[in-house]
Amino acid sequence: MIPYGKQTIEEDDIQAVVAALRSDWLTTGPLVETFEKLFADFVGSRHAVAVSNGTAALHAAMYGLDIKPGDEVIVSPMTFAASANCVVFQGGTPVFADIDPHTLLIDPKSVEEKITSRTKAIVAVDYAGQPCDYDVLRKIALRNNLALVADACHSLGAKYKGRNVGTLADLSVFSFHPVKHITTGEGGMITTSDENLVKQMRIFRNHGITSDHRQREKERSWFYEMTDLGYNYRLTDFQCALGISQLAKLPKWISRRQEIAKHYDEAFSTIDGIDPLVLSRDVSHAYHLYVIRVNERKIGKDRGVVFRSLRSSGIGANVHYIPVHLHPYYRKKFGTGPGQCPIAESAYEQIISLPIFPRMTLVEVNHVIQAIRKVAELDL
Ligand SMILES: *Cc1c(COP(=O)(O)O)cnc(C)c1O
Repeated sequence: MIPYGKQTIEEDDIQAVVAALRSDWLTTGPLVETFEKLFADFVGSRHAVAVSNGTAALHAAMYGLDIKPGDEVIVSPMTFAASANCVVFQGGTPVFADIDPHTLLIDPKSVEEKITSRTKAIVAVDYAGQPCDYDVLRKIALRNNLALVADACHSLGAKYKGRNVGTLADLSVFSFHPVKHITTGEGGMITTSDENLVKQMRIFRNHGITSDHRQREKERSWFYEMTDLGYNYRLTDFQCALGISQLAKLPKWISRRQEIAKHYDEAFSTIDGIDPLVLSRDVSHAYHLYVIRVNERKIGKDRGVVFRSLRSSGIGANVHYIPVHLHPYYRKKFGTGPGQCPIAESAYEQIISLPIFPRMTLVEVNHVIQAIRKVAELDL
């Protein structure tokens, strides 16, 4: 089975982890700062804070923004549940805005409609790896005194009007899960230019304690204080070693993803009814996912039939995502449900994620294209 996404681990990645394991520091050591610094440099952000996973990064962002019970945060429904769960962790209420039918990115017009006196922030999701329309979102955020958070778990390495993802919102959140652009096994990062938020989030990832083990060792002191309730959301040094090693290869891996996407785009441009998502002007797409829409009216088969046919040809097609407001938890706790985001709901019925990852071969890409042509009955 060709998976929809897969990590690339090379011998030098393994050696980097081994070296960290032989060092004095397995966690809260010097490689954490090194990874943060290199990551911030890569995206061109002033600061980066490493945490144990992308969900913890979202949680830290909500904590830094002081989201609390009674607060509303506007979120895209076309995302992994964690983008909304982080609001609930803080006792806030996620409010789902609908998406653009062509890009499946949060629709700024719908965002504006959902703003109330309780709204505190917007979580924009760079679905599939394409940046949202941050100039427009930023204007809405400024006008309404809201914080703008980018869930950039899909879009590390992408650009919007020549500017890097990671610098486009007040806080940008990344994941280093194995299917993402670079991996640390589990891992996450938040980038921001706000020093005060950085301080808050560093305390939050360390139990709410104001200094860590290495800082106390440097100061030859045992003294610490817990100033707020935090979590253990730290990323280990051997994971940071892997992250540092992976980050150096990221530009080449993004180019490879873009090449694969180009092959798909070309092939599907001649298949009526298999529609890739629309690429906005002025963006460089990072292609965490390659998503097609199945037009049932044109090819006479629904998404389920196409999906099963791909799976039976050894293609690990997937569906990203069931809109978050349709999950039973949200329906029960927040009374959400069908009809609330009609564009997201109808897109969900049509989408399929096809395999895309740096080590995917041209033979594998062509195998996927052939399987799609076959199900669309172009080559029988
Ligand atoms: C992967 C992902 C997350 C969560 O990241 P983890 O590291 O798995 O916790 C959050 N949001 C989006 C959009 C993601 O794709």
